[in-house]
Amino acid sequence: MSKPAVNGHDANGHTGRSDRIQIINDEKQFTPDLNAQLEEWALRDVGFNYNIVSVFGSQSTGKSTLLNRLFGTNFDVMDETKRQQTTKGIWMCRGQDMSVMVMDVEGTDGRERGEDQDFERKSALFSLASSEVLIVNVWEHQVGLYQGANMGLLKTVFEVNLGLFGKKSADSSNQRTLLLFVIRDHIGTTPLANLQATLTADLQRIWDSLSKPEELANCKLEDYFDLAFTALPHKILAADKFEEEVRRLRGRFVEKGRDDFLFKPAYHKRIPADGVAFYMENIWEQVQTNKDLDLPTQQELLAQFRCDEISAGALAEFNEQAKPQKRPIEAGKVIDGLGGMMRSWRAQALARYDRDASRYHQGVYKRKRADLIATLDSTLSPLFVGQLKNLHKSCLVAYKKEIMEGLRRENYNFADVVGKARGQCEANFTQGAKEAVVSEEEATWNWEEELGLLKEEVRNVADQLRKDETKKMVNAIERNFKKQIAEPVELLLTRAEPNMWDEILRTFQISLIKVENGYLTKAKSFDCTDEENNNALAILRKRAWLALRAKIDEQTADTVILGKLRAYFEERFRYDEHGVPRVWRPDDDIDGAFKKARDQTLELIPLYSKIEPVDPALAYKPPPEPVSTELTSPEEDFDFEASLTVYSESKALDLTNRFRRDADAYYVEAKRSTVSSIAQVPYWMYGVLVVLGWNEAMMVLFNPFYFAMVLILLAGSYITIQLGMLGPLLQVTGTVGREIRRQAENKLREHFSEPLQAQAARAQRGLENDESDIEPLPKNGTRPIM
Ligand code: GDP
Ligand code: MG
Repeated sequence: MSKPAVNGHDANGHTGRSDRIQIINDEKQFTPDLNAQLEEWALRDVGFNYNIVSVFGSQSTGKSTLLNRLFGTNFDVMDETKRQQTTKGIWMCRGQDMSVMVMDVEGTDGRERGEDQDFERKSALFSLASSEVLIVNVWEHQVGLYQGANMGLLKTVFEVNLGLFGKKSADSSNQRTLLLFVIRDHIGTTPLANLQATLTADLQRIWDSLSKPEELANCKLEDYFDLAFTALPHKILAADKFEEEVRRLRGRFVEKGRDDFLFKPAYHKRIPADGVAFYMENIWEQVQTNKDLDLPTQQELLAQFRCDEISAGALAEFNEQAKPQKRPIEAGKVIDGLGGMMRSWRAQALARYDRDASRYHQGVYKRKRADLIATLDSTLSPLFVGQLKNLHKSCLVAYKKEIMEGLRRENYNFADVVGKARGQCEANFTQGAKEAVVSEEEATWNWEEELGLLKEEVRNVADQLRKDETKKMVNAIERNFKKQIAEPVELLLTRAEPNMWDEILRTFQISLIKVENGYLTKAKSFDCTDEENNNALAILRKRAWLALRAKIDEQTADTVILGKLRAYFEERFRYDEHGVPRVWRPDDDIDGAFKKARDQTLELIPLYSKIEPVDPALAYKPPPEPVSTELTSPEEDFDFEASLTVYSESKALDLTNRFRRDADAYYVEAKRSTVSSIAQVPYWMYGVLVVLGWNEAMMVLFNPFYFAMVLILLAGSYITIQLGMLGPLLQVTGTVGREIRRQAENKLREHFSEPLQAQAARAQRGLENDESDIEPLPKNGTRPIM
């Protein structure tokens, strides 16, 4: 049979009570199915809670029979009648109702030496490397026969053992093995104690005869082996007793509490059940290739293999859990409770790894655990970093939103709004970031750096907003300032008193101080730095000056200033000192008055030309240039000294000339008005009028009718005036007059339009008459077209 059998049916059709597996076939190949078989036996996940027992002895000494009886297994037993050889190799069964892996080694008959010695040796090596208890099966009659096949085998066992465990005997506790001698066909004449003594002596002798390596020259048999002895009666001759003894022996394998319990923990090879298959396969591999079998190295190899497997299993489960969160994180979402989830996945993966891997070689287990943690963290870390980034973004957005809302409220305090929003933003981030931390110890989970970045951005946003706000405020203040100075400056420029500039500059200074104080009070709530305040104030001063200059320019524009000069001149020339309009008489000194008023007015031009107060203390100092140009615009640059000059000399000359022309016109007009006042009725005309009209006056006076009429008219007038009816009367008269005129006009219009129509009508009628007359006699055959 070249293929290992995995089921309960062997080549002979034998049906066993439990499955068995040929772990090493007759071609010395190790089965790939052991793991699956252990799984099926429910032995894979029992950790260290299992035992391994194997048997050793000459061919056909009833080994398989014994194992089947002791553990309820179904190893092949040689058929007595046929004396047929059982299949070579190593078989394994699960002990019935016990977590025991039972191994049966089938060799060739001990008598047939040669190449089979090799298999014996290899199978002994294999059994010793994994078994806790090695049952040595001997016939009673063979005991003491040093030359017997048994002893040769035992020598092999000892040699093998030295090779396996010898080197590390000092520091390894799990390398003892129990050799259980089962003396078969014990007749009873020789007591077990005697047989035991003989065997022990024999073993000692074999041990001593071994050629041991130098460093192990002094080691004793007891350093590696515990010895136990038991005897079984003849299976056929004393069948009942045999069964009874077998049952008793079985008890020693099963009942843990007993003193003579055989599976003592010290014999356990500490291979976790899930690693047994891999371990055995490796051992066999080493044995096969005749390499030095170094068990600790084997255990480490096993640990590496298994820890990797377990780690991969844990990692797969972990990745399954972590995967769905990757996309949302990449999409910029902040996942609630991500930290909790990540910690839970990680803890689950580690718990799973620890549960299975901690049974293996501790060094390997720990090393692989660190590797696993690194792998887990390398998966979690991007999630963590992503979460932080998203948190950063969302916190910043919320921060901006909160500030905007705060600034929309009335009477907000900028510093308060910003401070509160910043506190909230940083607290939210910190809270979210702390939640996302997977492990406190490692530097991977550092969020302070991101917080630092966030803080900086938060500060930048606040700075920018503050700048905008300051700008807005400076603009508002500037507008306010313009309004404040507009009227007084206009008035002062119109009055044009000699101390005009003093007054204007004083007004300017007072308004400026007011405005600066206003700024400083507001700026306090902005949390501005001194530097920013100084800058804003410098800008404010500069703009204030420009505003004043603009006002002055507006008020001194050509037409405006000429108007002002004209008014000033008129006031002095056309009105007297009481403000009453002058009526020029021929004897008045028009020329003198004109000159005086003109010269007074012309004096104003130099006054307007330069902003120069009489009191030098009031002279305005040029404002210091703003340090930062962020709030200013290039068109605001100007030369202060130049800005003090309102008119250049040529401009002043031009104005003078233009004004002179205007003034001359006034002069001419004044002259003309004196002439018109001369053209009045001479007084002698009144005398002529009395002389010529004397007769008519007398006639009215002496005619009673006319006189009565005059009297009535006078009385009527008196009453009317007395009653204050003159106004209404005039109004009524006016209205009546207008009405009469309107009526008259209508009548006239009717009159002049009606005849035209009438004529047209008449002409029509005339035509019709002509036609009726002419009809009987058409002259030229043409008829008027109707
Ligand atoms: P193995 O080759 O060592 O596994 O031996 P087996 O279990 O196949 O048995 C070989 C033969 O010995 C079988 O025919 C058994 O019936 C017989 N046998 C088994 N147990 C005993 C025993 O205790 N005493 C005697 N005399 N014969 C036995
Ligand atoms: Mg057998």
